[in-house]
Amino acid sequence: MAKEKSKGQELADKLFFNLKNCWDDIDEKTEKEIDEFAQSYKQFLDKGKTERECVEAAVEMLENNGFTNIDTLKDKKFKAGMKIYQNIRGKSVLAAITGKKNSAEGCNILGAHIDSPRLDLKQNPLYEDADFALFDTHYYGGIKKYQWTTVPLAMHGVFVNEDGKKTTVKIGEEQGDPVFVITDLLPHLAKEQMEKKASEVVEGENLDILAGSRPYKDKDVKEKVKLGILEILHEKYGITEKDFASAEIEFVPAYKASDIGLDRSMIGAYGHDDRCCSFPALKAIIALAKEKTAPEKTLVCYLSDKEETGSAGNTGARSTNFENFLAMFCDNESDLRLCFSRSAMLSADVNAAFDPTYAGVFDKKNASFMGKGLVLTKYTGSGGKYGASDANAEFCAKVQAIMSRNKVQWQFGELGKVDKGGGGTIALYAANLGMDVLDCGVPVLSMHSPFEVISKIDLYTTYSGYIAFLKNA
Ligand code: MN
Ligand code: MN
Repeated sequence: MAKEKSKGQELADKLFFNLKNCWDDIDEKTEKEIDEFAQSYKQFLDKGKTERECVEAAVEMLENNGFTNIDTLKDKKFKAGMKIYQNIRGKSVLAAITGKKNSAEGCNILGAHIDSPRLDLKQNPLYEDADFALFDTHYYGGIKKYQWTTVPLAMHGVFVNEDGKKTTVKIGEEQGDPVFVITDLLPHLAKEQMEKKASEVVEGENLDILAGSRPYKDKDVKEKVKLGILEILHEKYGITEKDFASAEIEFVPAYKASDIGLDRSMIGAYGHDDRCCSFPALKAIIALAKEKTAPEKTLVCYLSDKEETGSAGNTGARSTNFENFLAMFCDNESDLRLCFSRSAMLSADVNAAFDPTYAGVFDKKNASFMGKGLVLTKYTGSGGKYGASDANAEFCAKVQAIMSRNKVQWQFGELGKVDKGGGGTIALYAANLGMDVLDCGVPVLSMHSPFEVISKIDLYTTYSGYIAFLKNA
């Protein structure tokens, strides 16, 4: 016979907010779904290591599930239940399922980002020094520079020549491909370096990538190694040195996503931030596209670019692309304004998972934990909530209720202790349009590093939460 609970225990059960570990009581069927979802996510990660590649992968998934490119529609008259998408310059994508209600009633939106911290080539990157050819880079997004040395790197991106011809580059991903690397100093000679602050141990200007060392065989030319590299690039892609100025070449870690731990409960990979939210958001709208009847409200999934550098630029969330897309479903300007103010959005982005090795920077009672479900982050920002959209209590309650009713475990997540740092997402740009918006995503370990870690169960919980939100907000 079960021991009877004391009065205090009963009261504690009623009043305390206690979270279980999500793995604790899942059935075999769900466990299988979690593994399958993780498997398809890892494939998505390996396919999409840049924003352009993510758009390609997303478009393929959307088209395979009946979404039509908006540019191919003859007229822009939308009936309920239409599935459409817009590709924004190959670097960001918006997808929607039109609802039965007029869009002036507001849309339900998931907004994530598909860019990740990395190393971009400069406009004139290739140089020769001490018989090495090297690529000069400018890092993209917030990185700890020292983490990017001695890591195998792959070269991804596009060259566009003056005739408009686009050449796609991907080197370092296939079996047998060469990879690239940034060197670091041996410990024997690093006495001075090791005394430096971590932010200066490896300086941004020194994130230069080894590109080659085999000289072109001609004793009359200078910079033989550099010439040798240009010859290879010219033969392979038809480019010359000048073409780097009209290219977007990104260096990213060359390895694939892997399971982490003997129990395979986690995934280690480059680019979880924010593909671990982009992928579930995309899968959620695709799942709802399979339903027989049209949704009540128009459902939108926005995969934006440039979040890691502040969302500026014509593919970022601060551009009018987002507004323009919603405008297509509205009859006039005033309907569009109403649509903004009545829309509900989850800013689908990651939060920092509590890390016992670095416990000191977290407020344990407000941190998010791996394995404990999706994270609702009321506000981001830094130093007194500066720059945060800070969701209304009313909207937080609404989202919490949706999650609870649909048995999706959610947890709080504030990014670290007060004044320990901070960060932002695209939430405030949606909030500026007058929408209700709350950050909601997966907790991540080692965020912005070349090898980030998430829990498979949080990934799956987030997917379930996104579906619940799109259906019920
Ligand atoms: Mn992010
Ligand atoms: Mn980030």
